[in-house]
Amino acid sequence: MDAEHTHTRPRPVSVPLGATVTSTGPTAQLGAIRSTGGPRPADPQRPGPQREPGAVRVTGAPTEGGLQDRFGRVATDLRVSVIDKCNLRCTYCMPADGMPWLPQTQLMSADEIRRIVRVAVHSLGAEELRITGGEPLVRKDLEHVIAGIRADNPDLPIALTTNAVGLDRRAQALKDAGLSRLNVSLDTLHPETFAELTRRPHLDKVLAGLQAARAAGLGPIKINAVLLRGINDTEVVPLVDWAVSNGFEMRFIEDMPLDGDRSWSATNVIPARDIRAAIEETFTLSADPRGRGAAPAERWEVRRHGETALAGHVGIISSVTEPFCAACSRTRVTADGRIRSCLFSHEETDLLTALRDGADDEGLAQIWRDAMWAKPRAHGSDRVGLARPDFVQPERTMSAIGG
Ligand code: SF4
Repeated sequence: MDAEHTHTRPRPVSVPLGATVTSTGPTAQLGAIRSTGGPRPADPQRPGPQREPGAVRVTGAPTEGGLQDRFGRVATDLRVSVIDKCNLRCTYCMPADGMPWLPQTQLMSADEIRRIVRVAVHSLGAEELRITGGEPLVRKDLEHVIAGIRADNPDLPIALTTNAVGLDRRAQALKDAGLSRLNVSLDTLHPETFAELTRRPHLDKVLAGLQAARAAGLGPIKINAVLLRGINDTEVVPLVDWAVSNGFEMRFIEDMPLDGDRSWSATNVIPARDIRAAIEETFTLSADPRGRGAAPAERWEVRRHGETALAGHVGIISSVTEPFCAACSRTRVTADGRIRSCLFSHEETDLLTALRDGADDEGLAQIWRDAMWAKPRAHGSDRVGLARPDFVQPERTMSAIGG
C-alpha cells in the first residue's frame, strides 16, 4: 500500500465474552480522524452525526482507528453488495418465485458505493474488497463502479463474486476497469443438475464466462461450490479434477441456513471432514504452507496420488461444522447501504441514509465503528453454532446480503 492508504491498526480490545452493548446510536466527536487517518481537531460547523458537542459514547466503541469489535477482532475484509437481483434462482439461496427486489432509489449509486469504499479504506483500514450481489453482473454500470473504486484505491485488491452468466461479454472490460480477481459460483458440471440447482439452464454461459475471464487475465479464479446431499455430493472429485486441470482453485462451501425456502437442515450439510475424505480418494491433501490467517477457507495443496508435482489448491469453508468466527475479519454492506457486522446478523446499521443526509467521512466512519463494535461473537449472536436449536435464521437471504 502507498502512504495514502496507510492507517494505524488499532490494538485489539479484550472484552469478556457475553458483554452487552447498551447503545449503538450516533456517536461522539472524540478523536475524529481525517480520511487519510491523521488526527484533526473537531469542527462543530461540519455536518455529521459525530459532531454533537458533549455527546458521550456509552458502548465502549473506539472513536478512531479501524473496525474493532468487543472480542478483539479487527475487520479489514470489506464485502459490498451492489445489487440484490440475480439471474439465477439457486435453491440454497432464493425461493423459486416471489422475491421482492429493492426499488432502484434504495440501491446505492456508483458514486455512493465509491464513497463508502473510500471511507472503509482510507479511514477504517479496509485492506481488500469483494464485490457481491445478488449477481453483480446484473448491474449494467458494474465496470463504472469498479473504475471509480480503482481510481481512489490504486493498490486495493478488488475481487468479484459472480455466477459468470454474461461474463463472456464483460470480462475484458471489467479487467480494464481495475478488477483484480474472481470467485465464480459453480456447483456442478452436469447441465441437468445445474438446471435443477439454479432453476435456470445456463451452465454453458458460466463455462463461457470462465473461459473469457481467463483470456482477459483475471486471476486467480476460484470456483465456489455448495455441496448438497443427494444432488451434487458425488461431484467432489470431478470438480477438483476439472478445476485444477483448468488452473482454477476449487472451494467447497458447507450449506448454510440462508436459503429463501427456509428448508435448511443441519443433517443435509456435507461436513468438511467428509469433503476432505472424498478428495483424498484420488488426491493427496497437504496443508497450504501459506496458512489461513483470517480467511474463511482452510486451504490445501492438491497432488494426484503417486505424483510429487503440485496439481493445484482446494479450499473448504466449513461454517457449520468447523466455525472460524474467532478470526473473522469481515464487514459487509448491503446493496441498500446497510452495514452487517456478521453474515447472520439480525441487526443492520443504515449507512446510506447518513451519507445521503450529508454526513462527512468521519461521521460515516464512526457509524461504521459503532456498528462493528456490536458485532456478535459468531453466527449472529454471542453463542456459536449454526446447528444449535436456538439458532434463528436472518430475515435476509444470502442473495439479499451478499456472500
Ligand atoms: S458467521 Fe459472522 S462472525 Fe462467523 S465468520 Fe461469518 S461473518 Fe464472521
